[in-house]
Amino acid sequence: MSLLKVSNLGKSFGGVRAVDGITFDINPGELLALIGPNGAGKSTTFNMVNGQLRADTGSIKLDGHELVGQPPRKIWALGVGRTFQIAETFASFTVAENVQMALLSADSKLLSTWRRAADYKRDEALALLDKVGMVAQADRPCSDLAYGDVKRVELAIAVANRPKLLLMDEPTAGMAPKERNDLMALTKQLVIKENMAVLFTEHSMDVVFAYADRMIVLARGRLIAEGGPEDIRNHPKVQEVYFGT
Ligand code: ADP
Ligand code: MG
Repeated sequence: MSLLKVSNLGKSFGGVRAVDGITFDINPGELLALIGPNGAGKSTTFNMVNGQLRADTGSIKLDGHELVGQPPRKIWALGVGRTFQIAETFASFTVAENVQMALLSADSKLLSTWRRAADYKRDEALALLDKVGMVAQADRPCSDLAYGDVKRVELAIAVANRPKLLLMDEPTAGMAPKERNDLMALTKQLVIKENMAVLFTEHSMDVVFAYADRMIVLARGRLIAEGGPEDIRNHPKVQEVYFGT
């Protein structure tokens, strides 16, 4: 049985039909690529699945639970994870909390309390870092890390809640080819080990063809093709709208 069932999903912004009634499934353990030219509706689709945007039409079911109309927190609790950039992690704290953190770091007494609290689930955190090959760098500031290593930490953060489905919108943006391949190989390994599914977008066709189990292709909000790498590579509509551009 499929893990996620998306049916007739649609979303407009003003007069723009960003996503125009798309239907697809994701199976457990599957690495599914969502591809298509810029403006095709990939990010809008992601944001409807994670609840940041509300669909105008259609349904998104995870293990039979309707996600449309649920708040992002609830969707996350039901098992839909997403990667955040490290910089965005602090963006999820409130305005007041951000200022409170600044005050905390300036107060040596509170800071020692925080350091004690910092032992919270440290072993679990180290086990997660081990899964992404980052345990040796556990105590370095994130700002010291190479870009590809930051991405590994972001992956550990995203899988901490053991999502059933992980959403990755352009996970390899800005990475060199070798780093891209390393990150996708690691993602594939995690998908298998943790028995989770991944929906991702990716610009590099080499990466998509090397790592995706299956792919769906959007163009102007419509799903124009789906299938395995060979079906997509030779699909006339894909050649026309995607590789032709
Ligand atoms: P992709 O991620 O495939 O590049 P998007 O989902 O970001 O595509 O965008 C699909 C279409 O919807 C584009 O025409 C884009 O300009 C439009 N769009 C996306 N988000 C918004 C928004 N918040 N407000 C208005 N238009 C939007
Ligand atoms: Mg996008």
